Amino acid sequence: MKQMNTIKTTLLAIVFVFAHTIASAQTKLPNVIILATGGTIAGAGASSTGSAYTSGQVKIDTMINSVPNIRKLANLKGEQLSNVGSQDMSVKIWLDLAKRINQLLATPDVDGIVITHGTDTQEETAYFLNLVVKSDKPVVLTGSMRPSTALSADGPLNLYNAVAVAANPASKGYGVMVVMNDEIHSAHDVKKMISTPVHTFQSPQEGLLGTVIFGQTSLFHKPNGVHTTQSEFSVDGVTALPRVDIVYACADGSADIIDFLVSAGSKGIVIAGVGDGNMNTAMLAAVKNATKKGVKVVRATRVPVGAVLIEGEVNDKEYGTISSDDLNPQKARVLLMLALLKERSREDLQKVFIKY
Ligand code: ASP
Repeated sequence: MKQMNTIKTTLLAIVFVFAHTIASAQTKLPNVIILATGGTIAGAGASSTGSAYTSGQVKIDTMINSVPNIRKLANLKGEQLSNVGSQDMSVKIWLDLAKRINQLLATPDVDGIVITHGTDTQEETAYFLNLVVKSDKPVVLTGSMRPSTALSADGPLNLYNAVAVAANPASKGYGVMVVMNDEIHSAHDVKKMISTPVHTFQSPQEGLLGTVIFGQTSLFHKPNGVHTTQSEFSVDGVTALPRVDIVYACADGSADIIDFLVSAGSKGIVIAGVGDGNMNTAMLAAVKNATKKGVKVVRATRVPVGAVLIEGEVNDKEYGTISSDDLNPQKARVLLMLALLKERSREDLQKVFIKY
């Protein structure tokens, strides 16, 4: 009898341990926070086949609830940081976003972050965060090209895949990533390459970091450039960034735009140059004038792919200019704004562009 009771007690204990293990396996999903900023992924239109719609209409909780099985990937919480089309993305939202991400990732309760964002300026936000997030936990931006009301809307699967990447411990240390259309891109490399189709994001020179197919993540290679925990840039105590503008070069382009920006108080100007960061003689003269007055001028290229050589057709020492290296004009602007938070020489800035 005593032996029977011992067997019963042992069996009960085994059942209890087994049930407890299953229960904790279920609750041990990673914790992912979705920070929503707006964009077409939160957009809505009157017709499922029409092109007209408005960005930033749907709230984050509605978006999460519309994605089947997403809560099986992670314990999810949504926060609405803004609800704008990313053409209205601002330095203020960037700073709020970066500070909130750093706050969340500093706690052991948060394993990863997803940011929903319009695609128009997503590469700028991703690159900004890549320089100022102070954690190696996954931070993933996503968006969509079709609004939530469209036939074959791409937002739900993009959000599902973004959460899968953010919830995956293997994504740690890759810096900030962009997940769209089954692909994983590095913030440093990704570019919006096509205005409206769903394969808008590409990393044409450097290639993908990996793929994510219905949540199954494969990461092929590590990102280029220094990022996140290794970056010297920080948003601690920062409430604004120095004004930096972009001037687009073209045949017979006007040079007085540069003079205007200097008089308007620009601290930095990025030239979206022709070819290897070139510009016409009149623009070069205006640039020389600007750099003599202390305005920092970076030469990038309007060509979609490729780097700008230091000392190519433009003598950088003579004109006081800096090459953007492999950053396109919009990302060069982001780096210049952060770099100009402290006083730096042209030579020091050139090193910054080579490093980041
Ligand atoms: N204008 C939209 C935005 O950037 C486009 C998009 O999300 O695809 O917010």
